[in-house]
Amino acid sequence: MMTKYKPRISGRPHGAGGEKRRPFSAFRGVQANHPVAVNPPMEKIIESAEGKLKVIVLGGLEEVGRNMTLIEYEREIIIIDMGLQFPEEDMLGIDYIIPNISYLKDKAEWIKGVIITHGHYDHIGGIQHIMGEIGNPPIFMSKLTAGLVKKKCAEYRNCPKLNDKLIDEDLVLRLGQSFRVGFLRVNHSIPDCFAVIVDTPLGRIVHTGDFKIDYSPVNDKPADLQRIAQIGSEGVLLLMSESTESTHPGYQISESAIGNEMDKIFEKIEGRIIVGTFASQLARVQKLFDLAEKHGRRIYLQGRSMNDNVEIAHQIGYMKFNPRILVNDNELERIPDNKILVLGTGSQGESNAFLQRVVSHEHKTIHLKEGDTVIFSSSVVPGNERTIQSLKDMMTRQGADVIHYEMMDVHAGGHAKQEDLKLMMRLLKPEYLMPIHGNHYMLKAHGDLARAVGIPKEKIFIADNGQIAEFVKNETGVTVGKLTKEKVITDYVMVDGLGVGDVSNIVLRDRRVMAEDGMIVIIATIDSEHGKTIGNPDIISRGFVYMKDSRELIEATRMKVKKMVESHDSRTSADIDHIKNRIRDEVGQFLFMKTKRRPMVLPVVIKV
Ligand SMILES: [Zn+2]
Ligand SMILES: [Zn+2]
Repeated sequence: MMTKYKPRISGRPHGAGGEKRRPFSAFRGVQANHPVAVNPPMEKIIESAEGKLKVIVLGGLEEVGRNMTLIEYEREIIIIDMGLQFPEEDMLGIDYIIPNISYLKDKAEWIKGVIITHGHYDHIGGIQHIMGEIGNPPIFMSKLTAGLVKKKCAEYRNCPKLNDKLIDEDLVLRLGQSFRVGFLRVNHSIPDCFAVIVDTPLGRIVHTGDFKIDYSPVNDKPADLQRIAQIGSEGVLLLMSESTESTHPGYQISESAIGNEMDKIFEKIEGRIIVGTFASQLARVQKLFDLAEKHGRRIYLQGRSMNDNVEIAHQIGYMKFNPRILVNDNELERIPDNKILVLGTGSQGESNAFLQRVVSHEHKTIHLKEGDTVIFSSSVVPGNERTIQSLKDMMTRQGADVIHYEMMDVHAGGHAKQEDLKLMMRLLKPEYLMPIHGNHYMLKAHGDLARAVGIPKEKIFIADNGQIAEFVKNETGVTVGKLTKEKVITDYVMVDGLGVGDVSNIVLRDRRVMAEDGMIVIIATIDSEHGKTIGNPDIISRGFVYMKDSRELIEATRMKVKKMVESHDSRTSADIDHIKNRIRDEVGQFLFMKTKRRPMVLPVVIKV
């Protein structure tokens, strides 16, 4: 059967060998009668190859976040994903963490392309910060992903104009001399997701991206098991497969099953319905729009990311709804409680998100009251349990009923569970497996599953961030791999406001101290001639003690400082730094002795 040959991409991307629709048989609908690409055939490269194939995961092996994978062969690199990680609870004031690209610093020339699997922040959140640092190579992503990425980039002034190309399941790219790349559509909690198939001179690598196996997805095509099996039948050297739900037995629930559960809930509720979900869970958001329509409710959409994402997805056709279903602030008052659905962000208890603002009475229009039902429609991201619990407590105190997915099955995750992961391995039959996208124990659990389906232990690579996996041909021409002890730098790169990497651990420690024990500022004015204090030192405390209740302590501190300064021999050393250090040390000790707390002490010494 002839398939029409139509290159999707014109021109040659920078540094790449150009790409052509010259797929090999695994790539859907393409047979041998396609025009041959200008590139030398893959077989040629393989014969002459004696090189090493390296796989380096810069982020995503010790966390669910900052995903970024490098595939390197003979001075050519392709990158898969460039995500961010949300900070740990002890990283105060940090917006997020992005992958460390030190390894790529002098290798911009080597980078032949960047492929983005889907539009979640743990896969796209680093793009705006990193692309400019690595020479802005061509970037390949799906239509919805591109919409979300470009929106983020436009908000960040250091993001270069992206040299982006759209991907779909029929496209095959030739990147550099070494890589041929195809795409497999997968299901997840956001539409337009792809797994990546990379053919290298030493064998095929399949990177799943985030996936679930869904036979009846919402607004998306079902999993194409046949194609996955075909890819597998052609031989897979290495499978890099996500591990988010690898500790959960069974199969993931279909997104359409959630709709049914939600439908039942909607039917019963008389008052206002307030749903908190991830702005990026667009399949879920679509389902909620459909349900609102069905139950005659209009939608009050809250949260900037929610509004942005819905707008982008609607514009490019991934979400379908009549815009008149949306309610603005002015209309809200006139709509009866049983006719409204409030849809917002903050189901993880994020501090500035919609739900948090509602419970802390900071939201301009929504305040909880008896009769309201709040539905948390996303699972708890590990680490957020406490925050979410207190959010739910506050909601119930304010009179609302709270439904969480634990109580009723309102949640289907976007990630493959154990049986799905096994199915993927059975279909692809990889020789080696490298679990990705998870904390160490999730990777390990995924490794155990791999052993259960027959992959030998030494071919399962449970790696740390930056640890290099290496493949070479042995004397008999067979590709063999090993996980080396070698590691590239993957230290945290923290983004704070709009600054990247300028928050050191010292700054973090200071913030932690201030958050836990507060701070105290001591202002002493010294007469430089006589070395005496002028007046009494001023003391300001924030977050340490309540000044009015601690008069004695403050007064004692004041006297201590005064004495310290005056005993200081100004003739030998009138050095301000020295006085400041003494105040810091001695007042710190004194306050600790009195209160068992260690506030940050900030001495300000003014000489007149
Ligand atoms: Zn995802
Ligand atoms: Zn992810």
